[in-house]
Amino acid sequence: MNVKALARASGFDLCGIARAVPGEEDARLREWLAKGYHGDMRYMERRRDVREILPGCRSVIALGVNYHVPHEPPPGARVSRYAWGEDYHRVLGRMLDIFTARLGEGAPGEGFLACCDTSPVLEKAWAERAGIGWIGKNGCLISPRFGSFVFLAVVLTTLDLPPDPPHPDRCGSCTRCLSSCPTGAFVAPKVIDARKCIPYLTIEQWRPIRERIAPWAFGCDACQDVCPWNRKAKDCGRAEFAPRPGQDAPDLRGWVLMKGPEFRARFQDTALSRPGRRGLARNALAVLGDAAPPDVLDAARQDPSRLVREQAATGTAGASGGDRTS
Ligand code: SF4
Repeated sequence: MNVKALARASGFDLCGIARAVPGEEDARLREWLAKGYHGDMRYMERRRDVREILPGCRSVIALGVNYHVPHEPPPGARVSRYAWGEDYHRVLGRMLDIFTARLGEGAPGEGFLACCDTSPVLEKAWAERAGIGWIGKNGCLISPRFGSFVFLAVVLTTLDLPPDPPHPDRCGSCTRCLSSCPTGAFVAPKVIDARKCIPYLTIEQWRPIRERIAPWAFGCDACQDVCPWNRKAKDCGRAEFAPRPGQDAPDLRGWVLMKGPEFRARFQDTALSRPGRRGLARNALAVLGDAAPPDVLDAARQDPSRLVREQAATGTAGASGGDRTS
C-alpha cells in the first residue's frame, strides 16, 4: 500500500512516517509543563504515549496541509491567517475520514486513529520526526516547501510502515522571530511562555487581557510573518481557507455589540467560534483600549458576561491603535 499516494489523493500536501516510539520531546514537554508555561491549558498535561492511545500502535503518519492565501488584509485589527476561512478542524476532518477509509480498505484488520487537536498527541513533534519539516525557533513546524502556514494532523496505526528520516533544523543563525514577538513570549529558541503569547491570551484563557495585544484580535502571526521561509509560501488554492468578510479584518465594534445568535450565524463553522462570543468581545475591547467609543464601553459594562464587563473595567490596560470601529 502506498500510504503517501493515498495521502495526496485525500488532499494532503505533506506526508511522512515515524516509528511509534518515545522521543526527546517527552522530556522537553515535561520541563515546559513543570515551569508552568502552559498556563490554563491543562489538556497539555494529558499528552500520552501514542501506544497507550492506540494499543498496538507501531507507526505514526504525519500529515500537512498548506493554508497560505496570498492576501494582505487592510490596516487595522488583525486575525491570524489560520482563522480567515472555514475551521481547519472541519476541513482536515473530512480529509482524514477519506484517508483513513482508504487505508482501512487497503489493510483490513489494522487499527487507525486520526488526530487533529482531538487526542493527547504532539502533532508538531511527530511531523518533525516524520521528516515533513522542522520545529523552528518560533515553535512552528516549518516545511521547506510551504513554510509554516501549514495545518497538521497525524494518523496512528498498527501498520508497521518504513519510517522517514527526521527533518534537520534549518533555522541556522537566524533569530528574526525571537525579536518579533509583541509580548516577549520567547523564553529561549523553541521555548514559549504561552501565558504571554497572544494566541493563548485571545483564544485559550478566560481572564481579562492586560497585555498590549493590538492589532491582534484573534491569534497572532508576528513570528511567522518575519520568517524567511514564509517568503516561499505558495497559494494553497483552497476555497475553504479564503478570507471571509470580517474574518481577516475584524469589525471590533461589531464584535463587542454582537449577540449570541449573530455570533453563531457568522462564526460557528470557523475557528473564531473557539473563544465564544464573550471571548471575541473581550479581545475586541483589549485591542480598542482607550479608543473604545463610549457607547461600546457602555454596552460592554452591561454585557451579560462577567469576562466582558471585567475587560471593559480594565480601562487603559488594552492598547489602542487597532481601531476599526466603523
Ligand atoms: S524566523 Fe528565522 S529563526 Fe525564526 S523560525 Fe524562521 S528561520 Fe527559524
